[in-house]
Amino acid sequence: MGEKYQQLVTRLEDIQNLGKAAAVLGWDQQTYIPPASVEPRAHQLETLSRISHAMFVSEETARLLEDAAKEVEGADYDSNEASMIRVVSQDYEEQVKLPTEFVAEMSRTTTLAHEVWAKARANNDFKSFQGTLEKMFELTRQGAEYLGYPEHPYDALLNQYERGITTAQVKKIFDDHKPELVELIHAVGKNEGRVSDDVLRQDFDVEKQRAFSTEVATAIGFDFNRGRLDVAVHPFCTNFGREDVRLTTRFNPKFLNPALFGTMHEAGHGMYEQGSGADLEYTPLSGGTSLGVHESQSRMWENIVGRSRGFWQWALPRAQAHFPEQLGSVDLETFYRAINKVKRSFIRVEADESTYNLHIMLRFELEIGLMDGSVKVADLPKEWNQRFEAYLGIVPPNDTLGVLQDVHWSAGLIGYFATYALGNLLSAQYYNKALEQHPTIPEEISEGKFDTLLGWLRENIHQHGRKYTSDELTRRVTGESIQSRDYLRYLTTKYSDVYSL
Ligand code: ZN
Repeated sequence: MGEKYQQLVTRLEDIQNLGKAAAVLGWDQQTYIPPASVEPRAHQLETLSRISHAMFVSEETARLLEDAAKEVEGADYDSNEASMIRVVSQDYEEQVKLPTEFVAEMSRTTTLAHEVWAKARANNDFKSFQGTLEKMFELTRQGAEYLGYPEHPYDALLNQYERGITTAQVKKIFDDHKPELVELIHAVGKNEGRVSDDVLRQDFDVEKQRAFSTEVATAIGFDFNRGRLDVAVHPFCTNFGREDVRLTTRFNPKFLNPALFGTMHEAGHGMYEQGSGADLEYTPLSGGTSLGVHESQSRMWENIVGRSRGFWQWALPRAQAHFPEQLGSVDLETFYRAINKVKRSFIRVEADESTYNLHIMLRFELEIGLMDGSVKVADLPKEWNQRFEAYLGIVPPNDTLGVLQDVHWSAGLIGYFATYALGNLLSAQYYNKALEQHPTIPEEISEGKFDTLLGWLRENIHQHGRKYTSDELTRRVTGESIQSRDYLRYLTTKYSDVYSL
């Protein structure tokens, strides 16, 4: 490694560490912070974001990047050196367009907005959040103008989470699978009574739920020596490096699903972070490459594995040991159907697999409208409910169950939702590839062996960190770009079975 390259890496490590320190403060804000401490926390995070942004877009970083690029010229595309220059140059070109003061203001505004949103959601009071949300979209529009975009301001936002993808491409992917999805939900809807999930809706002691969720997360491969599980209002996964990955979940004492499947979901994210190459640690190449790929990991473990019959062949006796009274007499078939019950519901994170992407499409349309001005923030509750009825045939009885349910907009994460649906599609695409190469995976899962699948993910996806964009990675792994074919086939096969269609 040359001298200039080494200097660049050292500088990037400092910037990376500032980001991880901010992540600790952010995690704390969503888990343990006392209510009165939000204001000072906003100042602390603002300072960290100002310093790290200023360091990254400085002349010095630009010069080091240029010199290091000359030094490693001709290095293999897949090498850490060439990847570092390629990825960091793109990061730099984007970040340098944003004024540091804008980045700092965004950080402060989002930290404070979180509390305004949490209160509004608890009180079902959209009006108290409206002003904050208007400011958030105003800042976001300004950010998109700074960043620039090929066609639509929304392109600039998507690019932050899924580098290179455009609004038109996402729209096409959604349009491609929406009609079949709606048809499937309709077919299931006519046979709704065939499946009951009563067995999951009983009294489940929270501490026992925690113990069972932890047992499952450990079994599938999350390493608790390098991570923890805590409670948050809106569950998430964050990390302070591959050696410290934080999962969060939430418990419902009367419903087994949220904590159990939520923990498997976040553990899927967590294992991706824990599997990032050790040689990439402390560099901007560490961690997940895009939110869509990240979500493919969480959805794969939560749904393709966690809601499969084979998985419960292994897991049901374990669940029964934790909850003998509630689950002692349930048979595998009843339980398997229960966890796969399709129910048109208001809350996205609790939606079944078939209706989930419709929740996303609705948000995608609204965000595009909010960005180009065709939808006004003040009209959001009305616009939300109208679309909800059109897509899912039901109307949320209040805004807490409607437009106020998600944390994202308060956090300035606009353009983010689409990646959830992309992640669903990718989860099926990647899993099928793993299966093609290791046909024994389902059998192993039914015996509680998850090594082959996790090992395949480690080798093909996790270890590369951010070296490849989502599209590059997907082509390398599956031989083609993202498509909805595999996901639709997966859903159709599964629900035809569960609902005897
Ligand atoms: Zn997720």
